[in-house]
Amino acid sequence: MNNDFGPEYASIHDASFVPKYRASCYCETVRYDVCADPVDAKICHCPACQRLHGAPMQWAAIFHKKHVRITAGIDQMRFYNSERNQHARILPCKISCARCGTPIADEGRRMWLAFPSLFDFGKRSDIPEAFRPTCHIFYGSRVVEVCDDLPKWAGHKNHSQRLEALTLKKGPTEL
Ligand SMILES: [Zn+2]
Ligand SMILES: [Zn+2]
Repeated sequence: MNNDFGPEYASIHDASFVPKYRASCYCETVRYDVCADPVDAKICHCPACQRLHGAPMQWAAIFHKKHVRITAGIDQMRFYNSERNQHARILPCKISCARCGTPIADEGRRMWLAFPSLFDFGKRSDIPEAFRPTCHIFYGSRVVEVCDDLPKWAGHKNHSQRLEALTLKKGPTEL
């Protein structure tokens, strides 16, 4: 048995599904659970993410669809295919909440790219290790510098130039 959202997702009727993390949009109309850790997490600095999220970068944690179960608000999901500029669930597409506008996830052909800010981890500082970004992608389009030790790719991970890590500049007193 599958839920209404699609056969590739975990069913609401699957008793073996044990929620590991819960996510919801700002107004809590759209809610979903995952039963596993993400397979990877990345921060994307591409201009499309910057604009679509109204943010300098996008943090995404990647899940297999079979580990995702939508528990509420399927009828309140809005789909947008940016390539075709269509409000349609044509994969890959963006999913947002029709009520509050929160970006819910990027639905790929095989994977579910979750936005970890929607997850309830308890304290904000308690981000599980598996959700921590492993790299920056499209760092060539960055609007802010990030001073960390993670690999920084100009474009896609492993398929673009790897940019030099920023060396921390001296404080303002040195100017
Ligand atoms: Zn909402
Ligand atoms: Zn992006």
